[in-house]
Amino acid sequence: MPSVAVAVETPRHSSVSGLLDYASEQTLPPGTLLRVPLGRRDVPGLVWERRADAPPPPAELRPVTLALTALPPLGADWRALVDFAAAYYQRGVGELALAVLPPELRKLDDTQLARRLKRLASLQAPPAAAEPPRPELSEEQAAALDVLATPGVASRPVLLHGVTGSGKTEVYLRAAAAALARGEQALVLVPEINLTPQLEARFAERFPGRLLVSLHSALTPAQRLRNWLLAHLGRADLVLGTRLAVFASMPRLGLIVVDEEHDPSFKQQEGARYSARDLAVWRGHHAGVPVLLGSATPSLETWQRVQEGRYLRLPMTQRIGGGAMPRVRLVDMNLLPKTNEERVLAPPLLAAIEERIARGEQSLLLLNRRGYAPVLHCGACAWKSGCPHCSAWRVFHKLDRTLKCHHCGLSERVPRACPDCGNLDISPIGRGTEKLQEQLAQLLPQARIGRLDADSTRGEGQLQQQLQAVHAGDVDVLVGTQMLAKGHDFRRVTLVAAVNPDGALFTSDFRAPERLFALLMQAAGRAGRDAAQAARSEMWIQTWHPTHPIFTALRAHDYAAFAAAQLAERQAAGLPPFASLALLRADARSAEVAAGFLHEASALAQAYAGVTVFPPVPPFVSKVADVERMQMLVESPSRVTLQRMLAAWLPELNAVRSRHKGLLRWAVDIDPLAI
Ligand SMILES: [Zn+2]
Ligand SMILES: [Zn+2]
Repeated sequence: MPSVAVAVETPRHSSVSGLLDYASEQTLPPGTLLRVPLGRRDVPGLVWERRADAPPPPAELRPVTLALTALPPLGADWRALVDFAAAYYQRGVGELALAVLPPELRKLDDTQLARRLKRLASLQAPPAAAEPPRPELSEEQAAALDVLATPGVASRPVLLHGVTGSGKTEVYLRAAAAALARGEQALVLVPEINLTPQLEARFAERFPGRLLVSLHSALTPAQRLRNWLLAHLGRADLVLGTRLAVFASMPRLGLIVVDEEHDPSFKQQEGARYSARDLAVWRGHHAGVPVLLGSATPSLETWQRVQEGRYLRLPMTQRIGGGAMPRVRLVDMNLLPKTNEERVLAPPLLAAIEERIARGEQSLLLLNRRGYAPVLHCGACAWKSGCPHCSAWRVFHKLDRTLKCHHCGLSERVPRACPDCGNLDISPIGRGTEKLQEQLAQLLPQARIGRLDADSTRGEGQLQQQLQAVHAGDVDVLVGTQMLAKGHDFRRVTLVAAVNPDGALFTSDFRAPERLFALLMQAAGRAGRDAAQAARSEMWIQTWHPTHPIFTALRAHDYAAFAAAQLAERQAAGLPPFASLALLRADARSAEVAAGFLHEASALAQAYAGVTVFPPVPPFVSKVADVERMQMLVESPSRVTLQRMLAAWLPELNAVRSRHKGLLRWAVDIDPLAI
């Protein structure tokens, strides 16, 4: 009986890895979804190409349980993407392939699937209303589109480097229109689920009569399956989604857009820790499809590739409609007169906010810490509100009188008295958004003060409600975390202030300055979108380190200078993008066990040339939910050398694992974002 090679869901570094052979009476093309017996269970699998160097299958094979032939097989381009991603991120092919398919798919048998597909086939595209008049292009937009339309230009990725408000979305829309006109599908990736409805509305308006679907983790399983199928069948012309959409099966794919390409949320943080941005670039290159990366503050990886000529940069420096970037004002906190009172806002900043309120304009105050206070403290015995299960403080949330651990989720009522000594006088230290909101209410009794953070937007529709209130002018001052900075088009905002950004200046994470710069530039971009108000728009920064190079570059809105300085530092230190990193993580009940595993792994790594293995260290938060975590960095100036080393070294670690009782899990993170 003929046989097929099948990718099943087993991790790469387990005893069963790679492809398994099964007998099949039917000839099943690669990409066919099926069910096969594994041990005593039936598991989902995908028919895969047998590797050229694989030994011939044994004569005795178990038969395939069920082939889902109603579903058109997943295409060669899609399989190539999965093959590449599995190899690069050191996962099993089947493990990755099945993880990125909609989970509902595995619950259906062939008849159910056929019925579902028939229903989708008869689905009508939305009625073709008249397309709204397109806005006139700015000179820079027109120039960018001219370049994009040049034959052959798309052979390398294009960075659309445009300041906030320069109209990058219009360029995406026109590039998508061109792809659709060629009979192709367009894939648009955005960092935040919250931003997809806005973008979806804009695309739906621009492309009446076209079928548009979204793919992100907030969809119901049934919606996700439906949308995925519409993309896979080639029915949907446009697919908008978050990082998981990079794996959408699209037979007519003709354009990939990655908006806000620098955003850390394009990196998956568990399982196969892939970068959707990097995979989008690979997918485009492999399939010969143009890739458009958009950002006001590109990642330094992308910027370096522009410097090397591997990516093409199209600049857009002007804001649409004559808006200007706000003037940046630094408040040197060292120069403020000393008081015994806690300093919330410097007097000139407070006065500037009051002016805005008087004129009916809005102010945004950025404080990247939610809750009321990061820690509660007893003055009598020095007790602090630590989490019993994590090496972290529990945050005081005053509104619901709880102490919450932001790492393991433990939430308890605030104690009436100190749990250690009974002292009734326990007090908060430091400040989060809740407290800032409360303090502002005292400083500005006449103002309407709103708050936007993960706590205030948890309920269904709360985020939209709050944004609506800001747009309607029902809020004078909006306090919030980095959520404030992302994508919202607020028309009346003429002041943005970073209340206390200094924390990010001196961390051990080499990417912290890059992230802070991007956040502050993005926040600054919220002000002055309206030409009439642009002239008096300001970004205020309260800092104890006003001469820090980040602030100098920010003041000049000079991304290029900032990037050049950062890249010089990275090159001197042998850090990405000038070196490749992998992070080996180990979790155990005790730090000794986790470190013991890593030490033995490190000893084995000495056999490989061209890589540097650093000593195991605990991450910033070393204990979460009673699990001790340790990590070890592996670095090489050559990506290829590192990849080869990992492919040989990681399989050895299975044997190592069994020698360390109490090791819960280990995992590898390729190109880690946080170290
Ligand atoms: Zn006490
Ligand atoms: Zn905890």
